[in-house]
Amino acid sequence: MEKISVAVRFRPPNPEAADPSPAGAGGGGYREWRIDNTRVSLLHRAASPVPGASFAFDHVFDGAATNERIYGALVRELIGAVVGGFNGTAFAYGQTSSGKTFTMNGSDADPGIIPRAVRDVFDTVRQADDREFLIRVSYMEIYNEEINDLLTIEGQKLRIHESLERGVYVAGLREEIVNSAEQVLELLQLGEANRHFGETNMNVRSSRSHTIFRMVIESSGKDQTDSGDAIRVSVLNLVDLAGSERIMKTGAEGVRLNEGKYINKSLMILGNVINKLSETENKGHIPYRDSKLTRILQPALGGNAKTSIICTAAPEEIHIEETRGTLQFASRAKCVSNCAQVNEILTDAALLKRQKLEIEELRKKLQGSHSEGLEQVVLKLRNDMHKSELERDRLAMELEEEKKLRVTLEQHLTEQQKKLEAISSDHFTDSIQLDALKTPDSKSVPDGFVACRSRYSNDVEFSPLPENLDNIAHEDLWTRLNKGCVTDLDMLEMTPGLKREASFIQDTSAVPLEEPTDTRCHRLEKECISDWQQLEESKARCANLEKERDVLRDQNLSLQQELSESKREADSLVAEKQAQLDDLRVKCVAFEKDLYTARQEAHRLATEKQELAGELGTERQKLDELKQDIRVISRGFLQREGQLTSLYTKSKAILENCKTSQIMIMSLCVGYICAGSLVKKFSGISLAISFL
Ligand code: ADP
Ligand code: MG
Repeated sequence: MEKISVAVRFRPPNPEAADPSPAGAGGGGYREWRIDNTRVSLLHRAASPVPGASFAFDHVFDGAATNERIYGALVRELIGAVVGGFNGTAFAYGQTSSGKTFTMNGSDADPGIIPRAVRDVFDTVRQADDREFLIRVSYMEIYNEEINDLLTIEGQKLRIHESLERGVYVAGLREEIVNSAEQVLELLQLGEANRHFGETNMNVRSSRSHTIFRMVIESSGKDQTDSGDAIRVSVLNLVDLAGSERIMKTGAEGVRLNEGKYINKSLMILGNVINKLSETENKGHIPYRDSKLTRILQPALGGNAKTSIICTAAPEEIHIEETRGTLQFASRAKCVSNCAQVNEILTDAALLKRQKLEIEELRKKLQGSHSEGLEQVVLKLRNDMHKSELERDRLAMELEEEKKLRVTLEQHLTEQQKKLEAISSDHFTDSIQLDALKTPDSKSVPDGFVACRSRYSNDVEFSPLPENLDNIAHEDLWTRLNKGCVTDLDMLEMTPGLKREASFIQDTSAVPLEEPTDTRCHRLEKECISDWQQLEESKARCANLEKERDVLRDQNLSLQQELSESKREADSLVAEKQAQLDDLRVKCVAFEKDLYTARQEAHRLATEKQELAGELGTERQKLDELKQDIRVISRGFLQREGQLTSLYTKSKAILENCKTSQIMIMSLCVGYICAGSLVKKFSGISLAISFL
């Protein structure tokens, strides 16, 4: 058991108010609210406390507090619990213009509890990577005790139902499966546009309806696919109530007054529920069912949920009485205990469970394909499936109600017929006349009637006595009684067996005998006429009821047709989805094949790469060795080159020397040759000379 967490928040003083100067929590009038940590007290200007007007809460915030601070103190922890499987509710209570909507919705600069909670839910979900989540949202208002869907204009005057699996729920309410905070905020904007706003003297755009924003969070362990696994289902309600001020103060009249009555009625019941729950003993019957608001919020009030209440108050002196009322409500709420536990279910009531296997399979297959917008495809499929289910439930429920209505009408009709029979058997004795009263379905013989007067004239067991008839009835009356059928009274033949006629006789005999026959005739005639009129009216009623029954039967038929059409549509939708699924499966199989081939190829390439890397290593080693050799050889070359260069230089020098020597030799040779030729010439000459 844990207590409801209660905070009081004073808004900043309104500068246009009559007593604008703030002191402590509020305005500087004759009396003022003073905040002291978690206590708020009403003080006289002279600082003396007003008796019985001091209250303590979990938190008290003055006009300077931001929505962020309020959220951190009251809601942040709650969101963690909701994502973990606990139900959670946060609502703002207070008079109009005290800051409820500001606290719940906030402004762009300082977002309120709802946008902060939405973002926190998705952040927390992202962090819990061991679980799979399915989140759906709905947004409704209670306006004049009627529940309207704010996410769709068709969803008006919705009914509350209760089932073992789903508990208390609003039938036909649109639920949108979502996967991002932005998507939820867009839906909230759409809902906001549909809200009813009224105008009163107190607040030009004051809200005249209670709004309930609801997030249903289902989750399961990621690696659990077995159908026996438990699914956690938790509900988060964020509620912005309509103003709790007295009607007189708003100057409301007409439609506004009517709205005020309804608002006050449901807030009054909320107050009663809180009062009863805050009692420590003899709680007795808790009137949850007396208003739609308390019925929907039942788990949050003394039930299986963690609840935070933010009571908003206006600091100005003119609002002191309303503020005091708000603080009294808040201090009673502080005494209420809840019993929250993680909601784990094993049945198919969890949407997540029904969708999980199929979608998971699809998701896994699609993940390999890098398909763009995969999340959107999955989300759309989920939404379609969920909508079909909701539509089927709604139609089944309508059909059930129609059936019940038809049974009630038929019962009503039977009762009416019984009553008619009783009336007619009291006043009319003839079975054929009785027959004329019956509905066409139960009529046995068509307008055939009549009796022979003479045969039963003395038999008091049968009636009407021909004598009596003879005395009181005349042709006109009989003609009317017999629907215009002209009857030969002499041929009247009474149908035996209706012993009540004796009582008729007794009744008539109860009339004083002294009554003159004419008067008696007139009286009886009048009675007959009035009975006939009653009979006619009853017949008309019967005819109307029959018509209604026929209309209902037609409606029932058309509903059944609609239902079967919807079923057919649902079937075709399922078939279409199945076909899409099959298509996707085929694609997935192809993708898988491709993937398998690609993987094999990659494996082969990897092996090749490894081999090549090995070869490369060997080659590199060889290269290194070669480089080493080259280095040694080049060193040898360099040495040789040096030697060669010196040899070359030497050879060059030698060559130079040789050249010089050669020239000398050549010149010597030339000299020699010349000398030789000279010698030859001289010897020739000498020979010649000798010869000579
Ligand atoms: P309610 O929903 O209770 O009728 P609103 O939230 O609409 O009241 O508040 C009435 C006005 O007071 C709005 O203009 C709102 O911006 C302003 N207001 C309320 N509370 C605060 C606050 N704490 N800080 C600043 N402005 C506030
Ligand atoms: Mg409001």
